[in-house]
Amino acid sequence: PVGTPGGTPTGGTGGVQDLTGWATPSDTEDGTIALLLPETKTARYESADRPFFEAYFQELCPNCQIIYNNANQDAATQQQQAEAALTNGAQVLVLDPVDSAAAAAIAEQAQAQGVPVIAYDRAILNSEGVSYYISFDNVEVGRLQAQTLVDALEGVDDPQIVMINGSPTDNNAGEFKEGAHSVFDPLVDAGELTIAMEYDTPDWSPDQAQNEMQQALTALGNQVDGVYAANDGTASGAIAAMKAAGISPLPPVTGQDAELAGIQRILIGEQYMTVYKAIQPEAEIAAELAFALLTGQDVPESVTGGQTANNGATDVPAILLTPVAVTQDNIADTVVADDFWTVDEICTPE
Ligand code: BGC
Repeated sequence: PVGTPGGTPTGGTGGVQDLTGWATPSDTEDGTIALLLPETKTARYESADRPFFEAYFQELCPNCQIIYNNANQDAATQQQQAEAALTNGAQVLVLDPVDSAAAAAIAEQAQAQGVPVIAYDRAILNSEGVSYYISFDNVEVGRLQAQTLVDALEGVDDPQIVMINGSPTDNNAGEFKEGAHSVFDPLVDAGELTIAMEYDTPDWSPDQAQNEMQQALTALGNQVDGVYAANDGTASGAIAAMKAAGISPLPPVTGQDAELAGIQRILIGEQYMTVYKAIQPEAEIAAELAFALLTGQDVPESVTGGQTANNGATDVPAILLTPVAVTQDNIADTVVADDFWTVDEICTPE
């Protein structure tokens, strides 16, 4: 089933500290905020980020309004959605940008109207109009993906890999890539690994990833020992291309998001790993920050621990949660223990 990961958060297994519960709820406040998410092809936004954010925010502020929009991977659409939200009275914007650089224009416009902006999951670059950045350690995501792939390739002589990165307009994609290269490049220099082909994937499109992999297979005569795919959607495209080319057994493929379909592919041996990012705390911390900004409550120092992330224009107070690598060996101890997916959900064919 296409479900909403849910249940009671047990905490801990994602290595994620509980950073919520500090603001004082209000049932008299009736303000408006906006949540603007980037796309729908990746399952997390509609099935996890949005419901977790809305439920938690509504708990803090039952009479507040949430304007919600998804930009379907179109930066111009997102700009219009943000303008409309401001026109319709949004007093805080929670923005997961389609295009991290272009979103500066949104943050500038919000700032000019005295509306604080929270960069949600993806950084908003080159603007002073960003109050908080809540995400994961995204360079670490890339490192985990690459190191797990390298470990899986142990014993293969000078393995040849293909890299399928994310969208060039998403700042996270650059950080995943940077983390991955920090693991791969020393091996390449030592002559122990070959990156035969590397692609950036516009819009993080799984179909585009499939085309890229098809192209790579043709160029390499189907000789591929491993695939670095930046998330579960691009992994699905790469795997579809390899199956269509008759490759069996499939080489190890990485991913990210612990999507239900990704976890199922790991269990049947089609995908080697994914990265679990505990979306519920990410969404709930964002909701609490938005509520605090709306109601003028102080954010305790312990929430950011004094950490900042420079966005090119300013140091933005930042909360970076910890990602976890997931293979067949630890599905039970991570996504299942955390109730992100239940055994029933995993074992029911989609
Ligand atoms: C997110 C990933 C997601 C990707 C595609 C990234 O910014 O961090 O979780 O898979 O975008 O939407």
